[in-house]
Amino acid sequence: MSENTNTQIVTRFAPSPTGYLHVGGLRTALYAYLMAKKSGGRFLLRIEDTDQARTVEGGIENITHSLAWAGIIPDEGIKLDENGAIMETGHNGPYIQSERLNLYKKYAEELIEKGHAYYCFCTPERLEEVKTQRQADKLPPGYDGLCKTLSKEEVDVKLQASEKHVIRLSIPEVGASVFEDQIRGSVSFQYSDVDDQVLLKSDGFPTYHLAVVVDDHHMEVTHVIRGEEWISSTPKHLYLYECFGWEKPLFAHLPLLLNSDRSKLSKRQGDVAVMDYKDKGYLPEALLNFVAFLGWNPGDERELFTLKELVEEFSLEKVNKSGAVFNLEKLDWYNHEYLKKLSKEEFESYVDNFMPAIAKESDNYKEVLPRLLGTLIERIEKGTDITDTYEENISYFFTKPNIQDENTLVWKSLKDDADGLPKSKSYIAEVREILSNLEDDKWSDKEAIKDVVWPLTDKYGRGEVLWPLRVSLSGREKSPDPFELCFILGKEEVLRRI
Ligand code: GLU
Repeated sequence: MSENTNTQIVTRFAPSPTGYLHVGGLRTALYAYLMAKKSGGRFLLRIEDTDQARTVEGGIENITHSLAWAGIIPDEGIKLDENGAIMETGHNGPYIQSERLNLYKKYAEELIEKGHAYYCFCTPERLEEVKTQRQADKLPPGYDGLCKTLSKEEVDVKLQASEKHVIRLSIPEVGASVFEDQIRGSVSFQYSDVDDQVLLKSDGFPTYHLAVVVDDHHMEVTHVIRGEEWISSTPKHLYLYECFGWEKPLFAHLPLLLNSDRSKLSKRQGDVAVMDYKDKGYLPEALLNFVAFLGWNPGDERELFTLKELVEEFSLEKVNKSGAVFNLEKLDWYNHEYLKKLSKEEFESYVDNFMPAIAKESDNYKEVLPRLLGTLIERIEKGTDITDTYEENISYFFTKPNIQDENTLVWKSLKDDADGLPKSKSYIAEVREILSNLEDDKWSDKEAIKDVVWPLTDKYGRGEVLWPLRVSLSGREKSPDPFELCFILGKEEVLRRI
């Protein structure tokens, strides 16, 4: 069969609704989306729920909402309507496999008629024995082909007697499947290593292998882009295309995502669900940009790309073969870059989302929050940094710090001075006096605050003056500089605290 000659590129993302959308799935969807959009083609979302035992309630919703949040909107298939409800568009539906069972059955039977598939009546017990035997014989796992030898009459008798059966693909015994992977180049598998795959299960459901081929064909898919774990299934799929006499799509298998220790990315080492990242305050633009770079780069130094820019730049040729390390620090860096791009109003509402209730209950919350943004943007990379460091770094803006020991006000040069504490107190009293005379409208300007306090530091020393100011305002040894603290807290509160 020749390769697909359709002019329009059609790609698909075909997740199984077995839980939540994984970040690896997001990357697959993104690459497939980019590939289609770059050429003005179509990107479709199909739900592969043929394994009913693994299908999870709410799985389809999680996938579609996660994709929509990330900005990957299918042209066809399953998507969300404007009210956020699941809907379906396109002329090749239904796009949920469990609604297409008749089609798969029809094609499985067609393969039987053509002699490319056969009924198999083996019981689970027998299959278990075959498995053990093959292990002992050091053969690759797989079916031993017993039912392939049944005569038509024997099969008819068993069918008449309603014996439980499946339909298996009859893989050639000799030869090899060779194909050109768009990322990995030439790939070949010996047929002797390929199993006679079950196509239709005894409950009438197809397996993934039959369904994926039937659907990719009927949905006019030209490029199958999917994770590397499917590469060994590709010979079965290609053989099915040949049996049906259908044009084959092109295949591209994406490199694995790895933890920093180069093991396969797993839940055990961190979050894998897209929605977990959303909940932690990662912006969709940041996660998408980061995920785009897991296995791809533009070939130069540029790192920041909007989805639109990715569409222009992306190509499968630039996707790497080797596994891509999922580096959380890099993701944090991206997120910070995108947080910096938010408008003041957007950032304020972002921060507000992550502020604990205790902050919001404080009388000065509404007043202080906007003034806190400038320092927060330099100190956080994601929303949970706010919640995680609230106690230490943020709480004192909303609740007056409790200074247990007055001696913490004393700068180190005065620690051994018997008059250290009284001196510090008198410096800070002078600072208070100066600040109380600073006009209200000057408080919105950090530099104006600094200008009036600075002469005192020339007189008494920098640490000697600024240290007690910092400690009395924040109760902390580490904080933004004292002028920033004054600006954030505002005149009234500053005078009260000093
Ligand atoms: N349903 C498969 C999955 O969950 C899709 C594999 C493919 O894209 O062919 O990953």
